[in-house]
Formats: sequence, C-alpha cells, structure tokens
Amino acid sequence: MLKYPQLEKALKYHFGYDQFRPGQRQIIEDALQNRDLMVVMPTGGGKSLCFQLPALLKSGLTVVVSPLIALMQDQVEALRNNNISATFLNSSLNFYKVRSREEAIMNGKVRLLYIAPERLISDKFLPLLDVVKEKIGIANFAIDEAHCVSEWGHDFRPEYRQLILLKKRYPDVTTTALTATATDRVRVDIIQQLGLKQPSVHIASFNRHNLYYEVRSKNQRAYAELLEIVRENKGSGIIYCLTRKKVDELTFKLQNDKIAALPYHAGLSDDERSKNQTRFIRDDIRVMVATIAFGMGINKPDVRFVVHFDLPRNLESYYQESGRAGRDSEPSRCTLFFSFGDVKTIEWSINQKTDLQEKLIAKQQLRQVIDYAEGTDCRRTIQLAYFGERFPANCGNCDNCLYPKPVQNWTIEAMKFLSCVARCKERYGMLYIIDVLRGAKNQKITLNKHDQLSTYGIGKDKTLDEWRILGRSLLHQGLLEQTTDGYSVLKLNALSWEVMRKQRSVSIAVPIAQKISLEEGNAKAAEVEVLMHRLRSLRKQLADEQAVPPYVIFHDSTLKLMAQIQPKTLHEFGKLSGVGSHKLAQYGDRFLAEIQAYCQQQSLQPQKTNPVYYAPVDNFPSDTESTTLKLYEQGFNIQEIAQKRNVKTSTIIQHLSDLIEKNQSIDLNQLIPLERQKKIWQVLDVLGDIALKPIKDYLGESYSFNEIRLVKAKWQRENRKT
Ligand code: ADP
Ligand code: ZN
Repeated sequence: MLKYPQLEKALKYHFGYDQFRPGQRQIIEDALQNRDLMVVMPTGGGKSLCFQLPALLKSGLTVVVSPLIALMQDQVEALRNNNISATFLNSSLNFYKVRSREEAIMNGKVRLLYIAPERLISDKFLPLLDVVKEKIGIANFAIDEAHCVSEWGHDFRPEYRQLILLKKRYPDVTTTALTATATDRVRVDIIQQLGLKQPSVHIASFNRHNLYYEVRSKNQRAYAELLEIVRENKGSGIIYCLTRKKVDELTFKLQNDKIAALPYHAGLSDDERSKNQTRFIRDDIRVMVATIAFGMGINKPDVRFVVHFDLPRNLESYYQESGRAGRDSEPSRCTLFFSFGDVKTIEWSINQKTDLQEKLIAKQQLRQVIDYAEGTDCRRTIQLAYFGERFPANCGNCDNCLYPKPVQNWTIEAMKFLSCVARCKERYGMLYIIDVLRGAKNQKITLNKHDQLSTYGIGKDKTLDEWRILGRSLLHQGLLEQTTDGYSVLKLNALSWEVMRKQRSVSIAVPIAQKISLEEGNAKAAEVEVLMHRLRSLRKQLADEQAVPPYVIFHDSTLKLMAQIQPKTLHEFGKLSGVGSHKLAQYGDRFLAEIQAYCQQQSLQPQKTNPVYYAPVDNFPSDTESTTLKLYEQGFNIQEIAQKRNVKTSTIIQHLSDLIEKNQSIDLNQLIPLERQKKIWQVLDVLGDIALKPIKDYLGESYSFNEIRLVKAKWQRENRKT
C-alpha cells in the first residue's frame, strides 16, 4: 500500500503536475510524518515543492526562510498563480503593507510566509510568531538555501547562524533545510548549525540529465559559433564573461548582430542592474551577458543555454553557473569556450597572490578546470566525480560522448617537435619552434641560422594549429616544460628525452568540428515550433497584464505539450502537465482559442508536399557495375567477384559503392559489421563529405579504405535525400 495515496491528486490539483520528481514523494511523506528534513538536490531538482505541498496539507502556517528578496517575490508570485495563499515580508514593503500582511497571517489567511532570517528572529517579529503559534499553529520552518549557514559554503550569511533560536523557542515545530550545495562538509554543518533532530536526509543525484555539456575551442571562429548557438536556441540564455569590460564589448557586438541582449555587472548602477534582470526574467530580452555577479537567486526555469565565454574559476562554480540552464528539465545547452590564452591570464592573476596556500588551491582548481576542458572522457562523469558521485561513463548527452575525439598516435610529430626545441637550445617559445618546423622564412630565423638546422621545414605537412595542439598537449601531459617568467620558453625534461629516444609514445586527442544542432528538425517539429511561438506571445501578453514573469503563467514544457497535443476541449487541456485546477480556470479558454485558431489556419492551407528528389540521368548502373551487382546478388563475396572478373578488389569496391550511391539495394550488413558501420557513420557526420584519408586517420589503423568507401557511399546517398 502506498502511504498517502492521495498525494498525486493533490499535486495535480494544486500544481498541475502529474508525477513527482525523483525524491519528492519520499520527502513529502517524511514531512507529513513531522520529521526534520535535510534536502540536498541540484538546482532545478524541485526543492520548493517539497515544503510547499506539505504546507497545503498540514494545518498551520509554514514559514519559509529565504535570503533574497527577488527569490521571495518570485516564489510568491508563482504560488499565487496557482491560487495558493502565500505572502512575503521584507524591507521592500512600507509600513502599511507590512501591517496588513501581518494581519492576514494572524487571521489564518496565509499558508506560506516567506521571510528573511534577520526579520524572522528580530525582537519585533518573534512575539508575533508566538501568537501565530498559539492561535493557528506553525506547520514547519523551511530553510531555503540552507548552506548560507555554513562558513564552508560559498555564500555564508551570519544571520543564518541565529536560526538555531527557532529550535529552542519552538521545539515541537519541524524544520526542513534545503540546499543545492554538493559538498559533504557543508551538509554536516547545516544539520549541526540548525539543530536538526534526527533528520531524514535526502541527497539526490547531482546529475542534470537534461543539460548538454560541451567544450569548444576559443579560436577566431568563437564569436561566430557563439552567435550560432544564440540564434539556434529560440529561448533565453546567459553568457558569462570574466570582466565588466568583456561583458560590455560582447553585449555591444551581439546587439549589433540584432540579438536582444543586455549587460549585467557590478559596474552598473543598482537600478540598471535590477532593470536588466527584470527584463531578462520577463522575456523582454533574450540574452543576459554577465559577470558571475549575475545568477544567484535567479529562479528563471526556462534558461535554454548558458555559455561561459571565459574560463570559470573552478569546477564547482562551473557546475552551479551552468546549472542555471534548464531548471524546468527541458533540454538545454551548457557551452564552455576554452583557450590557453585565458589560462595564461588566470595563471598570471594567481601568481599575483601572496598567500602561498591560496595560491596552491587556486592553481589546483585551475588545473581541474583545464582537465575538464581538455578531457576526452564523458563531461558528466568528470563533473560528478568531482562531487564524489560515480556516474557510469558515456552519458550520451555531452560532446565527448556524442562526438568522441579520436585519439591519435603522434609520436613521430612529437619527436620532431621536441628535437626542434633541443636544436634551438631551449631558448624559444612555442610559435618560434613551430615556425622553424614549418620552414617559415622570417628574419629572426635566418639571423639565428636556424634555417640550417636539420629540423627546419620538416613539419610542413601540419598546420600551425595542429602543431599548437601538439605543443599544448605535450605541456599538459608533462612531456615538455615552459618557463613561468612570462616568456614561456620551452624547456625539455626527462620525459621529453624518453620520447626522443623512442622509449615513450605520444597520443593526443584531436579536436574535430562539432555539429551544432541538438535535435533533428523535421516537419512536425517545425509545426510545433510555429504554434509554440504563438502560444509564447499569448503567454507574454498575459504575463505583462499581471506584471509577472511569463513562466509564472505556464512553463515552456507545458507550452510544448499544448503545441504537440493540441487539445480541443477544456477537459483535454486540464490533463496537460503543468495545468492545475486554478490555471485551467484562469487561462484554459484563452489558450484553447489560440490553438484552435492555429489549427483552422493550418487546415485552410494546402498541404505541403515533400520535396521530390530527382535522380540524375546517369543514375543507372553501367554495364560493368551491373555484372558486379549480379555476382553480388548471387552471394559471392568481394574477393570472389574480383577473382571471377579478373579485376582488383578495389575495383569491385568502387562498383559497389557506386551502386549504393545509385540507389541499388546493396546490403552493407553483409559486408561490414554493424558496429563498424556505425563508427564510420559517426565520423562522417562530424567531418562531412571529405577525402577518405583524413577519415581513415580519425578512425585509426584498424579501419580499411574499402570499408570507409562503402559506408561513405551510403552516407552520401542518405544525406542527399534530406
Ligand atoms: P530548485 O529550487 O530545486 O532549484 P524548483 O523548486 O525551483 O527547483 O523547481 C524547479 C522547477 O521544476 C520549478 O519551475 C517547478 O515548478 C518545477 N517542478 C517541481 N516539481 C515538479 C514536478 N513534480 N513535475 C514537474 N515540474 C516540477
Ligand atoms: Zn557524456
């Protein structure tokens, strides 16, 4: 028997959701059993519901402690939109407003009260709370952002320390502490500092399954790629930069490219900052370009992408900052642009620190960020490992899982590179060495007579970028050193010599161009997108009428359901996840009308026909190809056909691949194991239609040109169709 079988009904009635998120039900059951609770869930996990639903099911007032005014307002607005009586008390209210709200509380008209810690424990407020306790009862103290109580957390607030007073004054009232902080130390601290009594502790996985993680190299194309990301995602996004100056510059560039973007940093006036923030939350603008000053306490659930255009300080901040994407569990993208120039900048600023311990920690943290960015393992696995959580490798939703970087053996190149460093007497930086390798004709080289070295010009076959990738990788693998005096002179070490003596091989991960699109577009998706657009406009209009953020009306996920399912009646509409009893009554008609209008217009339009693919005239098999085809159909394998026809096997392969391209039914499975086909296909998807040699280079020794040629023929045929 399920404990509290009615919980799902209550969830749907009040909040419109069909199911609990992982952990929520158990937590709510414990809350209803009057237990102290410690809830650790990542951002977007759905912590609020864990105290909001019990607040409606228990008698008495639930007091929610929240550190930020913006957060309080936001949550209260969202609750009121579900017809739940909630209110907040903070310094933004005038005397009369405070009085009338306090009265409402005393009269039992409020279920949830949001309040800042310092006000709650003030001498003025506590007596009032005593009366509440007496008259209507206190259901629970919910301490949001509970990590603020810990000095070990990233956001210590001394006021939080005094909350222990509540336990002393009201020993029989339960406390629910909630946080998204991942570290053990803080969790322990929270339990102690708040005096929780045998709390039931719930720690959810920190995996954010809906976030797509990727790292891109911050090269000359970086801005163009950023623009592509912004343009492709129709929703809101945050772009983080390191400095105010960079924020301003990037905002300006984006605005010039017709992106509705605004800046946010400590250099702006309070007024301007809060104005920009509101415009972002209300969807008046789409992109917030910001320093890390932005984001704490932003509850916007529909942030579709978070880009770090500069390097984050450490992995924990990266997790939290990128985690502001996709709180609503819809697919969202987290992109980190990585460059060694940025590493240098940060290294420089670390070197300015005087405290040795601090310096060491900062260096280690930087190292971890670099390892993450350069890593070839699943990004999610790396991040979660950082929090001590094990995640089975290969999440299928990060760049490394979807587009694995082929690791290549570059021992020969490394030997060339290192011996060039040696011959130049370990007195130059990377670019100079590469110039010598590539046989550049510059004055410095001639003057130094380095054009007479045996290594001069032996690296013409590789580009500047390729040599750079190798050079950096050697540095990061510790196979080469670099002075830290600001000149970055390359120096050899014992390992470098091992490489040069052929005692050690060198493998490097070669970055490859990445595809942008997250989802495959098709006709249905396009249709949903058009209707979504209309529903979004309607939502925005309704939100502006009430001066609330659009997501308070409906989440993106609910709009998407409307667009996909296209309900025709109020009954159908009420079944959508995110539509509770109140919202159904409030907005049902308006949205149904919009959907109906759209459907009518659609049915008036002629059905779009699929584009026809016209076969080229020379699409028929030639005579010799036909002969090969016949033998193939009789079940002979490639070698046998070649023998019978007395031609080379490569000729037969050529015939077969041409036949595939000409739409003849050649079953590849008969020729190449499926796994290998898949692998080749994947690489083709990434590299595109290029020569076979580089494709083979990426795949490695074990793949033959023949296999690649055949799969490529099929790939070309498929890609031409779409
Ligand atoms: P957190 O405080 O953990 O970051 P929130 O409580 O703000 O997360 O919840 C994140 C979003 O998920 C909110 O917009 C909330 O309405 C939504 N949500 C919470 N629980 C559910 C659920 N059971 N089903 C669908 N959406 C939910
Ligand atoms: Zn992954």
